[in-house]
Amino acid sequence: MIRRVLPACFALLLAACSHLPLPAGQNDDEDAIVLMIGLDGLRYDALDRWNAPNLQALADRGVRAERMHPVMPSKTFVNFYSLATGLYPEHHGMVSNSPWDQHHHRHFSAREGSPQDPFWWDGEPIWITAERQDVRSHIMFWLGSEAPFDGDYASVWHPYQHDMPYDDRVTEVLSWFDAPEDERPRFGAVYFDHVDTVEHRAGPFTPEEGEAVAEVDRLVGNLVAGLEARGLLERTNIIIVSDHGMAPVSLDRLIMIDEHSDLDGLFVEEFSGNYGPGLEPFLMAYGADDAVERAYAELQNVHPHLTAYRRQDMPSHWHFDYPGRGPDLFILADPEWLITRTDADLSNPYLSGLRGQHGYDNHAEQMGATFIGAGPIFPQGTRPDAFENVNVYGVIACALGLEPAETDGDPAVVERITGGNCPAN
Ligand SMILES: [Zn+2]
Repeated sequence: MIRRVLPACFALLLAACSHLPLPAGQNDDEDAIVLMIGLDGLRYDALDRWNAPNLQALADRGVRAERMHPVMPSKTFVNFYSLATGLYPEHHGMVSNSPWDQHHHRHFSAREGSPQDPFWWDGEPIWITAERQDVRSHIMFWLGSEAPFDGDYASVWHPYQHDMPYDDRVTEVLSWFDAPEDERPRFGAVYFDHVDTVEHRAGPFTPEEGEAVAEVDRLVGNLVAGLEARGLLERTNIIIVSDHGMAPVSLDRLIMIDEHSDLDGLFVEEFSGNYGPGLEPFLMAYGADDAVERAYAELQNVHPHLTAYRRQDMPSHWHFDYPGRGPDLFILADPEWLITRTDADLSNPYLSGLRGQHGYDNHAEQMGATFIGAGPIFPQGTRPDAFENVNVYGVIACALGLEPAETDGDPAVVERITGGNCPAN
């Protein structure tokens, strides 16, 4: 402990060292900072296809995974919350972007306050683990951060504002680090939707994707430069994650589900909104066994790019059967295909303009997500094989010297990512 803490004490005002000695069991690596940057929809291979000098520089001096597997389904809410908790959806409960809970007859709804309602968010997010071990955490827009965990929140969190300019987010994050040491976060997280938003409209492999990657690269560069200007870069572990990849889609690849089954007696979450059927990678259907069996039989071998799964048929790598929220029948398209109904309003530009989609099998290559880690705990220039995103919680706990909560991650994988460089607890 002395060896690690003393240099910082000499470098800082004596007041910053006044917390010594630490109570037993508390982390002793007072220097380490983690800044996690969430880049929605950044495919695992985007960095290979586009010029992104700031992200590439982080990869060069740290770890870049060959690919990171999202959890199933490869949707945004599901995955950002698995990144935060280290849990599969079967344990954290956020099984889609708008889960239906058939035990409680409740529908997740942002307009009705579900992002703030702990009913929907099980599991201990990393910012709670940190705060409870006296590691201050500031969060800008991470999914799950608006809901309390046993009454606790991060020290700083914000209700989501989709239209908050990205540069303002950077400015605010950097302002956190202008505070005195004891008011500064040691864990910070910030979210940018940009690549996902652009790719849903333009699709991957388009010039628009390249421009979106350049824009988030610029924002990452500004964050890194801001930390460097404050003399904090060397002690900061920067972690770049995305939630999922993206597959190109087209109105030429639609599966009209009602031409094969009327799904009679089943509640289909994706068809329950106010705007009619959308263009979906999957349908989550709920109902009695006889209705499930009828629809399951009707959907056998009806389309080469469609598969229906009963609860007992689901592949073991999915892990999303949270009690009451896992579907009774899960109807899944192959990547690049979309499920809809013949009454969908395809003249609606929101539907006709869809060029990128995700939510497909989480091990499908195109759903692969990005992981980059650079900083004191990360070995330089390594490219670990693909791993699941439920290990990121453990990586952060390692970097901050925290005692982790129980997760679905694998300590051996965390060791492979970090090179076993975790500071001692
Ligand atoms: Zn997303």
